[in-house]
Amino acid sequence: MVSPDIDRVLAAVDASADELVAFTADLIRIPTVNPPGELYEDCARLIGDRLALGGFEVEYHAAEGRPEHTSAHPRVNVVGLRRGRALRPAVHLNGHFDVVPAGAGWTLDPFGGVVRDGRVYGRGACDMKAGIAAAVYAAEAIRRAGVELNGSIEISGTVDEESGGFAGVAWLAQQKRLSADRQDFVIIPEPLNVDRICIGHRGVYWFEVTTHGRIGHGSMPFLGVSAIEHMGVILDRMRRELLPALASRTTGVPVVPDGARHATLNINGIMGGQDVNGIQTPCVADLCRAVFDRRFLLEEGFDATRAEIQALLDRATAETPQLAYALRDLMVVHPVRTPEGSPLVASLERGIQHVLGRPAVQIASPGTYDHKHVDRIAGIPNCVAYGPGILDLAHQPDEWCGIDDLVNSTKVLALSVLELTQTTGH
Ligand SMILES: [Zn+2]
Repeated sequence: MVSPDIDRVLAAVDASADELVAFTADLIRIPTVNPPGELYEDCARLIGDRLALGGFEVEYHAAEGRPEHTSAHPRVNVVGLRRGRALRPAVHLNGHFDVVPAGAGWTLDPFGGVVRDGRVYGRGACDMKAGIAAAVYAAEAIRRAGVELNGSIEISGTVDEESGGFAGVAWLAQQKRLSADRQDFVIIPEPLNVDRICIGHRGVYWFEVTTHGRIGHGSMPFLGVSAIEHMGVILDRMRRELLPALASRTTGVPVVPDGARHATLNINGIMGGQDVNGIQTPCVADLCRAVFDRRFLLEEGFDATRAEIQALLDRATAETPQLAYALRDLMVVHPVRTPEGSPLVASLERGIQHVLGRPAVQIASPGTYDHKHVDRIAGIPNCVAYGPGILDLAHQPDEWCGIDDLVNSTKVLALSVLELTQTTGH
């Protein structure tokens, strides 16, 4: 990469800053709320039309066959390809355009696309319509600077990330539209702070435990078996035996915040016995169910994580007369981590240093995002999240993205694309 190219591209980003902000606001004004998945097609078309103006070949991919793809709420994804001298290397920038509901506590219109005091406000401002706009204008700046790439650039807008991404990135990967046969590098411009590169996330294991008791008269509970008491035995063991063990394990992956560098367990919900809002009858509870959210570390792996839960339940059973349980797996997401020495990470590090004048920080997410589908289904290990916006503002009332962040991350993305597509051949 020659430095006149860099200078021209950075100048082109600065020159298009107003358009970049306006496009972010236009995206916010389409309330693509998930659930249920409102106005996805409108938003896909807005992105696709802008890509077409920028020289992209644009395709729309409806998630035919997925149960959530309905006539009322069609799941439409958009993918644009702009060819360079060759197709490879191919850099793919992916953003989800669904947003979570606005919720309460806003002081301005969550879907007004308000621009004020150097910020763009609205639901999805940082998570992640700013990121989509940054991707689009990074590619546009390269075009306006007159730089021809050796490889190709792709940009996609996808659905349903907030609800698992099954009709979005996972679906594109299953259709082989996202695949190691087509793309070399994937960047997801999620809001993670403008100087941080996210190299993966922890694993997720959601499971349900059911305890089975025996119904009896509430005045003679000794003649029944309380499923609620037995769930209490299990919860007590988790608190005394499991939680300290989880807290003592620390991953070598740079998960943020610090507390999430350990393995964790949350109780999502619990239900047992009779409905406490209803009329009460004197009965011993014969059923209790609880759902747990276990976040596991790359170093732990799923098999050991599940075996540990199973062993705890078996100990509780062995030491508690009449305790009977069932364990059911609800969801497993394996941890992902971008390979050490990835040229994708190195290019973003150089871009951040160049644009912001400070070193990049590598982090990993405490939760999970579409990276898993790119890695596990598409088979593209060189994937990261990097984009504008402050992570803590995602899903909050009065969500915003700073215009300086938006412009700077657009520059970093453009420099990264330049660098990654300059090497010839594949
Ligand atoms: Zn997001």
